[in-house]
Amino acid sequence: MGGFDDLALELEARKEQHLYRSRLITETAQGAEIGVDGRRYLNFCSNDYLGLANHPDVVASFQAAANVYGVGGGASHLVNGHSTAHHALEDALAEFTGRTRALLFSSGYMANLGVISALLSRGDAVFQDRLNHASLLDAGLLSGARFQRFRHADVADLSQRLASSEASRKLVVSDGVFSMDGDIAPLDELSSVAQQHDAWLMVDDAHGVACLGHGGRGSVDLFELDQQQVPVLMGTLGKGFGTSGAFVAGSEELIETLIQLARTYIYTTAMPPAVAAATLTSLKLVQADNWRREKLAALIKQFRTGAEQIGLQLMPSQTPIQPIVVGDAERAIQMSQALKTQGLLVTAIRPPTVPAGTARLRVTLSAAHNEKQVERLLNTLADLPVVDGSMPGNVS
Ligand SMILES: *Cc1c(COP(=O)(O)O)cnc(C)c1O
Repeated sequence: MGGFDDLALELEARKEQHLYRSRLITETAQGAEIGVDGRRYLNFCSNDYLGLANHPDVVASFQAAANVYGVGGGASHLVNGHSTAHHALEDALAEFTGRTRALLFSSGYMANLGVISALLSRGDAVFQDRLNHASLLDAGLLSGARFQRFRHADVADLSQRLASSEASRKLVVSDGVFSMDGDIAPLDELSSVAQQHDAWLMVDDAHGVACLGHGGRGSVDLFELDQQQVPVLMGTLGKGFGTSGAFVAGSEELIETLIQLARTYIYTTAMPPAVAAATLTSLKLVQADNWRREKLAALIKQFRTGAEQIGLQLMPSQTPIQPIVVGDAERAIQMSQALKTQGLLVTAIRPPTVPAGTARLRVTLSAAHNEKQVERLLNTLADLPVVDGSMPGNVS
């Protein structure tokens, strides 16, 4: 084995294709404004949709719990890392989701890997929306089950695939809110088609919980779907909840099966108990503070109306994820850079995260923003220098 010449070539090729990824260094807490590399920016790229990541009550609960439990979880849940703080949060999440039980995972990525590979193996089949989150797709592949992708939000396509499957177990998997498009899955239809074909439905509601539904109960609440209709409900805590980790909610049998079989649950250290305690406080705020969702809805409306007026191409999204389709990866990067020069952070999302030719600026709104800040975003977008001879937002 020589050096890493191969890797260097591949990295160089990524740069040439404008697909190279690099990191910002954030120096402050999440919020409408953040400090990055010594400068203040208006933040339109975080998933802290309700502005809870730095909420004083959430921070205080975290600190108080650290005084009790220390910092580290110390061991996996099945050894002795499962604390009263974790347990109380699981009970509260079960009640919140209207499910029999809930189980905590250290991250959404791990929850998805753990659930799908615990439920399926060779001889089974998994059916995934094409635009599902990478963690779901990875989980499907890892499980060893037959892997099929159906056309985005296309229930007829799914139905056909289910009808022609002879797998012993069938699992249909969909994002509740699609992470890069912001649209909501047709969960009512997915649920009936899954039931018709004797398949389970799993919904990953990473971007729906906290933001949508009564008291922030998420996309399944919009469609009033219960545990029987959506037997596997997954939500994350690092987005709308403003903390970290994830949960899976469902029946006693589901949760006990995960405790026995989900490798990303068994073979990893429990999340810090203080994170669980902080999340319990954030869950109370999520449920009580309807004004956060109302404010968010008003900002979404303001942004969409303004963006349409300046001719930007939006996607059919009623959620805080408001992508502006640009098409070309290079152009998305240039626009993101131009916004950054003006003091605004908006991420450019490129393939392979999204399909080729659909690079976009992924604007995310938060209840932490105010009207003036959204106005500044719109004004800056309107004044962006012309790129490639076309106006921003026109897909050429
Ligand atoms: C962010 C996200 C995840 C991963 O959750 P983490 O807790 O960040 O690992 C899973 N699914 C979807 C749809 C997501 O957007």
